Amino acid sequence: MTLVIQPGWVWDADHGLRTGHSVIVRDGVVADVVPNGPGQAPTLDAERIVAPDALLLPGFINLHNHALSAPLFRGLADDIAPGDLPGHIVYSLLMPLGDVAAQVMTEEEIGDAAEMALLEGLRSGTTALLDVYRVAQWPFIERAKRLGLRSWSCPYLFSAPVGMTPDGKPTYSPTADTGFEAILRLFERFDEGPRGVTRVGFGPHGPDSCTPELLRAIDSKARELETIISIHAAQNLIEIEKVRAAHGRGSIDHIREMGLLRPGVVLAHGMFATDEEFSTIAASGAALASCPLAFARSGRFVPLARMEAAGLRLGIGTDGVTLDMLHELRTASAFAKTQSGTPHGLAAALILRAATRDAALALGRDDLGLVAKGARADLIMFDLGSSRYQPVWDPLKSLITNGSAADLSLAMVEGHVLLRDGRVLTADAAAVTRRGRTAIERVWREAARRGAIPGSIAARAAFPLH
Ligand SMILES: [Zn+2]
Repeated sequence: MTLVIQPGWVWDADHGLRTGHSVIVRDGVVADVVPNGPGQAPTLDAERIVAPDALLLPGFINLHNHALSAPLFRGLADDIAPGDLPGHIVYSLLMPLGDVAAQVMTEEEIGDAAEMALLEGLRSGTTALLDVYRVAQWPFIERAKRLGLRSWSCPYLFSAPVGMTPDGKPTYSPTADTGFEAILRLFERFDEGPRGVTRVGFGPHGPDSCTPELLRAIDSKARELETIISIHAAQNLIEIEKVRAAHGRGSIDHIREMGLLRPGVVLAHGMFATDEEFSTIAASGAALASCPLAFARSGRFVPLARMEAAGLRLGIGTDGVTLDMLHELRTASAFAKTQSGTPHGLAAALILRAATRDAALALGRDDLGLVAKGARADLIMFDLGSSRYQPVWDPLKSLITNGSAADLSLAMVEGHVLLRDGRVLTADAAAVTRRGRTAIERVWREAARRGAIPGSIAARAAFPLH
């Protein structure tokens, strides 16, 4: 089956904006991108989509995400007031609640919550995600496959479960099971190889929560299996202090010493890295995923302009706040401007490059993130015909500045159409949403019962927790 798409505009980071072109999709790949006109080869057996008001581009790649966190923490972790939490939000709310979720959710419930989150991602133009989660939450993989999404799963590795001191600082026991063997079993069961749709990698939590021995073991196993590593790096000052106290160097230097500053590694956040550290990352070939909304929640701007200035391979992730990539990309654009104090910031084309081509290269996939002959057909299309875009002076700026996920008209992975005319074809969206919400509400009730949701926050719940 051949599909011929004739959008108003075709964009990718390597070719820029093209008008008057047809994109031909066959056997899972972009068979060609050709100018419209009499010279165009006839494709009699083809299905044709003619969309003169639409912008077709590579599907968004969410480079750092915790799909289960968005529905789990949504509302609870927003608008934190002084005195609400006994310590840092990561250690005094997100991790304890995550612990309860890990203990009480059945595999079916985990899958239901993940699928609801993935649905939100798909509906905003996400065709691929790098997701980091606890290894028991592996049903994520099956649900991503069911929806037809491309995924890299990087289950967490800790040298130990993380505990907390009374003043809200993390503690790590050096003797616990690291989860390494469980990830290898997932790899065996689900990984489809370097060019596959479903991949399994490693997610060492951070340079503070993994011992050097564990980090070195991960590095060598990932090289052997030709898979990727995702690690939080310079994400908060507690981490940086702990690494300095234990190893006498900064987080980025420590990660480099462990062999993890190299292509095939995605560092998450880099929030507190220095300009020199950004340059070190840029020179190493490792990529960095920035998640603006996650830090906005704590009242901080991510230093996107400084990251871009350092020449980093920069991707964008939604972390655990939303899965709406368009929302995240707009935030990234606004923050880059605000943080640099100039109107320049990151132009729409740079933001879109980060979310497509750069993210693909960060994951070692030169055949993704493009609309070009031979690229895998992971494509999305936004209809820019509605009033919010008019007149369309520049479709990229229109999409980033004024775009709405509701205008996503087409999404495909490997040529399989997952969403058409705004409708998800691979799931019953209403049923997925209902099941996901039910699963999450049960975790909240259980967490409240166990005291994992501090009372001042639990009191604000808009539905009965008991
Ligand atoms: Zn994260």
